[in-house]
Amino acid sequence: MNVRVRFAPSPTGFMHIGNVRVALLNYLYARQNGGTFILRIEDTDANRNLDVARDRIIQDLKLLNLSFDEGPGIGGPYAPYLQSERNELYQKYLEQLILNCKVYRCFCTAEELELKREKQRAMGKPPRYDRTCTHLSDDKIKAKIAANIPFVWRFRLNYDQLITINDMAKGPIHFELKNFSDFPLTRQNGTATFMFANFVDDVEMKISHVIRGEDHLSNTALQAALYDSCGLLMPRFWHLPIICNKTGEKLSKRDFGFSLEDLVKAGYLPEAIVNYMATVGMSFQQELQSLDELVKSYPFDHLNSAAAIRYDVEKLTWFNHKWIDRLELPALKKQIMPFFRDHFPQSTSMPKTITDALVMGIKADLKTLQEVKEKAAFFFNAPKVTRKDLEAHMTLEKINTACAIIKTHLTSIHAIDAFVTALKKDGQEQGLGIKDIFGATRFFLTGNTQGIGIHQLIELLGVDEAKKRLEKA
Ligand code: GLU
Repeated sequence: MNVRVRFAPSPTGFMHIGNVRVALLNYLYARQNGGTFILRIEDTDANRNLDVARDRIIQDLKLLNLSFDEGPGIGGPYAPYLQSERNELYQKYLEQLILNCKVYRCFCTAEELELKREKQRAMGKPPRYDRTCTHLSDDKIKAKIAANIPFVWRFRLNYDQLITINDMAKGPIHFELKNFSDFPLTRQNGTATFMFANFVDDVEMKISHVIRGEDHLSNTALQAALYDSCGLLMPRFWHLPIICNKTGEKLSKRDFGFSLEDLVKAGYLPEAIVNYMATVGMSFQQELQSLDELVKSYPFDHLNSAAAIRYDVEKLTWFNHKWIDRLELPALKKQIMPFFRDHFPQSTSMPKTITDALVMGIKADLKTLQEVKEKAAFFFNAPKVTRKDLEAHMTLEKINTACAIIKTHLTSIHAIDAFVTALKKDGQEQGLGIKDIFGATRFFLTGNTQGIGIHQLIELLGVDEAKKRLEKA
């Protein structure tokens, strides 16, 4: 089978993490199967059609490195890829459905429909369209059309039908259509609804697999009825588990990390986001994987049928920590420099060698790029060190010994190698562990007992600055 999958977001203005996961899994499925990954923008709802939002989606995919093979901007055999430009096609399908008497005009107003729903709810019945408009005579319909009364086209369900979807993870799922409503294919302004346009485009674009969130399961049931009534073969479906927060509730705007933008602003790397979102809820022997590695390893043959996955920012932070350390310097610099510029404007005029050394020196300690603010601060401003702070790490006796040793050798700090060796040797002779003597030295230089190696640190700060800080301490 020729694998053709699509990411079909509505341009709502921002990419949330659920969308990231849908796009990513579609991408991985396409790449693993030598298929085609399509971007289709579902912008039939004119109220929400924002050019900016569309561009944003494209930018976000680029940021995540999820390149698409067909879509807005690059075109493809089934262009255009914006639903707002495909209305003629929807009309063509609609005409066919009208001809085959699969649809009917519904003139009920939004208020009337709401009233009906309220009544049904009050009677303990599920709210469902009562088919009032199927009883209109031809004359009445003509009169309403002549009077310009707005209407929508509704698809007539066969209430006796049992629909079965063979989900890639969950296996067969059955739906009795008697539990559903005849649903609108058009809006009052004539444009196609999500349900209809999404179906037509999947057919027209020859989509082989629909990978989307579980919240679309009931839409799938209704769309299956459309496929069936048009005599078309359905694509395969995989409904992804919904994403919950740590306390098990559906992830919402209030949860940190809900939007991709939040994460990027907080200093999470796209590499880490992709890695975490691909592996969460699945078991991988090797958790840390690049996008290319995930393409090869993603176990599409062993999908589990979990109903929900738990989005855990702490785990994402672990991935981020690993990825910051794992990235090659040029790739890391591209992403980390904006954070430097924000917190330390003077960093823009720093020589490249110094910037590189600083980034290399602190990267293993960063959990997010935002932490540059604390972890690189020592470089730009000498830390305020107090004996009391250091006493949290070692005894006063050890501090005094370390100070005496540093003082003895400070005049020869210019020979960095010899200086470091001397500290170590004297420290050992006088009962200090390496952690004590280097910890104390580092503390005087950076305000932290742990971090960059002493030699590297002195080089980075410059011998004069390092000497000044140690002297003062
Ligand atoms: N526009 C729909 C959404 O953003 C697409 C659903 C689908 O993938 O079919 O939820």
